[in-house]
Amino acid sequence: MGTSDDHAPLTERVEQLLDGCLPLTIVAAGDPVLRQGTEPYDGQLEPALLARFVEALRVTMRAAPGVGLAAPQVGVGLRIAVIEDPAPVPEEVRLTRGRVPQPFRVLVNPAYEPVGESRAAFFEGCLSVPGWQAVVARHAEVRLTGQDERGQALDEVFEGWPARIVQHETDHLDGVLYLDRAEPRSLSSNLAMAERWAQPTPEEAARALGFELP
Ligand code: ZN
Repeated sequence: MGTSDDHAPLTERVEQLLDGCLPLTIVAAGDPVLRQGTEPYDGQLEPALLARFVEALRVTMRAAPGVGLAAPQVGVGLRIAVIEDPAPVPEEVRLTRGRVPQPFRVLVNPAYEPVGESRAAFFEGCLSVPGWQAVVARHAEVRLTGQDERGQALDEVFEGWPARIVQHETDHLDGVLYLDRAEPRSLSSNLAMAERWAQPTPEEAARALGFELP
């Protein structure tokens, strides 16, 4: 907690961002803001400013396009992220990856813990690491706690692709990039992904590139 004076620099930073054009510029890997972790949100932004900031995150995520965006990715060190996945994928991919539609959600102060021991490994990418994808073995199911943008408690179990999205975005808020958790030998350019690794699972890639799957 703190007075509004303590929060002035952060508030000014957000106001400055919102004075500019949308979509916002997405910060790329190498910028310390992606590595410094975030302040829990405790009212630093007035409700109207928070609403405008969340809307800017949504516009920026959709324009990218991406399925999630965390505040540090637009240069703001606050524990806030948005997710949304229309999941326009073939049936086989939907079944194998559990990539079901995820409605738009605002995650305020999210934290996750695994449910069970099962892990799922698939290629994923990040708007802050453009041009590349890599395989990450993540918890297949997680319990996510936190709040929504109105301060209502959030306590929900996610599975399938939405579980991957909430882990990826929550990690951003802790200064963690997906590459920190990835199989280094799986690193593939978008071109290689399109030409070689479009299969529903990364099994062929694991054999050809020489990395382990759980
Ligand atoms: Zn990311």
